Amino acid sequence: MEKRLRLAPSPTGLLHIGTARTALFNWLYAKKTNGKFLIRIEDTDLIRSKSEYTTNILDGLNWLGLYWDEEPIKQSKRISIHKNIIKKLLEIGAAYRCFTSESEILELREKQQKNGLPPKHDNRHRNLSSKEIKEFISQGKSSVIRFKIDEEAEIKWEDQIRGEIKWKGKDLGGDLVLSRRALDYEIGDPLYNLAVVVDDNFMNITHVVRGEDHISNTAKQILIYKALNYKLPIFSHTPLILNIEGKKLSKRDSITSIDEFKEMGYLPESLVNYMAFLGWSIKDPKSEILSLSEMSQIFNLSDVNKAGAKFNWEKLNWINSQHIKNMELIKLSRLIKKYWNDNGWESPSTEWDLKLTNLIRDSMILLKDAIDQAKPFFTLSKMQKEGQEFLKSKKEAKESLRSVLCYLKEENISKINSDNAREIINKISIENSIKKGILMKSLRIAFFGCLSGPDLIQSWELFSENETDIMRIERCLI
Ligand code: GLU
Repeated sequence: MEKRLRLAPSPTGLLHIGTARTALFNWLYAKKTNGKFLIRIEDTDLIRSKSEYTTNILDGLNWLGLYWDEEPIKQSKRISIHKNIIKKLLEIGAAYRCFTSESEILELREKQQKNGLPPKHDNRHRNLSSKEIKEFISQGKSSVIRFKIDEEAEIKWEDQIRGEIKWKGKDLGGDLVLSRRALDYEIGDPLYNLAVVVDDNFMNITHVVRGEDHISNTAKQILIYKALNYKLPIFSHTPLILNIEGKKLSKRDSITSIDEFKEMGYLPESLVNYMAFLGWSIKDPKSEILSLSEMSQIFNLSDVNKAGAKFNWEKLNWINSQHIKNMELIKLSRLIKKYWNDNGWESPSTEWDLKLTNLIRDSMILLKDAIDQAKPFFTLSKMQKEGQEFLKSKKEAKESLRSVLCYLKEENISKINSDNAREIINKISIENSIKKGILMKSLRIAFFGCLSGPDLIQSWELFSENETDIMRIERCLI
């Protein structure tokens, strides 16, 4: 049977790393099994849900490469269906109308708190007669619909990540509220636990993979599945993502939305690669640098750990640098070019962009590092103290640069490439008895204003192509 998995995000905020990681695990398992990855937007909280968040979530998943296989479903379009199912539960006696007011609930909680008990509804209206219901309604009291939870029930399921999970009916907080308050005989807006069961059944979801914070919801939902005679999906509960202190990663931890990672210069390839390791351990990895499709071939829910996964920036940075190193040059260059354009930097040709990209890619961790690394090629670097001192203290330094200029003029060389650059350096050093090391250091200082920087010959080639090499050398001679 085809496996069908889904992500069911609530559009009440930007796409968060936790939701993205849940999406990834669902996607990987769907692809691994040739199944389907679907999306349901749980937008029934009309106050907190915003369409811009839906757009942000879908755009973020798209950017990460986690494409879905069928048109996303909006839960808000199915409210009347959810209400009909609630009606059915009322009819079969699995649910009932409860008139307990907010203040009565508060009173009950306070009492329980005083006695050191967890909050639990006392199911006081489970057996109201139709006459009593009529009376409450005529008094103008609003009601919710509660689902009967059998105190004696033993709920058990085989979790693909955690093994057998057991839950007792008496630990589920009393009869479960299925809908918001409404007046008369109306049914208020259905709530999460009811809607999720009805919709997962409607979408023929075979595997529910979601965060461990939903474990107690799963126990409640299994009871609803049974009451409605629906086929149960297989459940998996993923570990939490923890911050450096070992606490659940939350919005208070500086960076959590996928947009922010993108903004910082992480590649989608790196983020999905890193997120997979937030919980998943591959047996005998040949390499930790993996593409989505490579991961989908070896992914298994049973290899996901139970323990929380600590977020590790160093590892993410390392993975990003590896993906930058391995990326197709044209693709990387196109991404980097955006950063250069934003700085108003113009390059002589696409060829030149590719060469510069190749020159700096090994020293980049984030895409935006392309700004600092490429800056000396677009703007004249300031002469640093070490450069000034070198030019002053080594008498052959200026002499070697003067010889380079003369040579270029005499030989009429205007374009440098790796072959003639080596030849020029060799010849000048032999003819003028200047050590090659000094000549190269002097050129480096002319180009970069200091003694560090990328490969000298390749850099010279680039400076010559944007016609700034002569000017850089000349500035050292005045
Ligand atoms: N809307 C719920 C959430 O975002 C969905 C949980 C589930 O996957 O059932 O937490």
